[in-house]
Amino acid sequence: MTDWTARIRTIPDFPKPGIAFKDIMPMLADAEAFAAAIDTLAAPWRDARIDAVLAIESRGFLFGAPLARTLGAGLVPLRKPGKLPGPVLEARYALEYGNDVLQVQADAVAPGTRVLLVDDVLATGGTLLAAQVLAQRLGAEIVGASVLMELAFLNGRSRWNGPPLRAALVV
Ligand code: IMP
Repeated sequence: MTDWTARIRTIPDFPKPGIAFKDIMPMLADAEAFAAAIDTLAAPWRDARIDAVLAIESRGFLFGAPLARTLGAGLVPLRKPGKLPGPVLEARYALEYGNDVLQVQADAVAPGTRVLLVDDVLATGGTLLAAQVLAQRLGAEIVGASVLMELAFLNGRSRWNGPPLRAALVV
């Protein structure tokens, strides 16, 4: 299988000085690398009977959609405020500076739906925890969480107290 990890590059001082940003764009642009990354993401969940993938805006959409297709599941976008019509549920979470909010449509899935949370990067873990709160408020059964890349030095995993959390790549 193609080494998709070789197509991820580190950009120093982006978006701010001192941050080493993991840039996945070259990997997405490479057909073989992208396919291999999706296969790696999907592997732990193939027999997990996932009904819906809950994907986090915005780069989580890039992986959540193909992952949902691969697993034969539906796709539920978790979005920034003001994007989703109708009644929504929301969860607030802390960023390095300030707060952000994720929303989901209140009727997105029926209670008991087996869901998988998906994002591109696990850093401090705040974003994934907000997604977990939304899934719980929907009454979903959270089967697990899946990220393309875990930034281990930020220790986000230590804040996760949920079901299995799998990273396709740990850096
Ligand atoms: P957390 O809430 O601190 O875990 O941050 C996770 C969110 O920040 C994810 O939705 C990522 O899209 C984004 N993120 C943090 N660091 C990086 C990075 O180095 N590359 C790409 N995205 C990142």
